[in-house]
Amino acid sequence: MNSINTIMYNYIEEKTESILVENNMFRVGFNINSLVEKYHIQLITKKLPSDISGLFVMTDHKPVIVINEEEKNKLRNRFTIAHEFGHFSLHRNDKSIFIDKKPKVLFRTSEKNDKNYHKEREANAFAAALLMPKKLINQEVQEISEVDTSPVKTLAQRFKVSESAMSFRLINLGFELH
Ligand SMILES: [Zn+2]
Repeated sequence: MNSINTIMYNYIEEKTESILVENNMFRVGFNINSLVEKYHIQLITKKLPSDISGLFVMTDHKPVIVINEEEKNKLRNRFTIAHEFGHFSLHRNDKSIFIDKKPKVLFRTSEKNDKNYHKEREANAFAAALLMPKKLINQEVQEISEVDTSPVKTLAQRFKVSESAMSFRLINLGFELH
């Protein structure tokens, strides 16, 4: 079971890194809206049901990401755009619409019996890897001051992600949080 996850995650780590490098955006806190625009994805903000954070759909072969206009938290929206961009990068040939509910704890939840459960996990892994590339995390962790009493907060601010997303990513990358 572990090996399947490892293969999947390595694939996603490589894919996200090459996307960033190819687009000259392999840096901390890059502009995700500009990245999405490079793929001619229409990014729109619209009123959606309050429990929905965003969605991805292909309409007439044109990719569209919709973000809930009621969500004013920029970090949450950034993660949602990265998640939907994950659906574009990994699942756009599925002829399916991906509607994403707001995360209850750390990330967008999906039920195990949901037919898209695996794809939702992939999109979450994609978003985390895109916004917090392993190499850049390792680099920035080295540069954190030893007297910094809240390194997770410092890293989260640099990478423009929530502290919970950063904590989760650091744990996944094998860092011990104190
Ligand atoms: Zn999703």
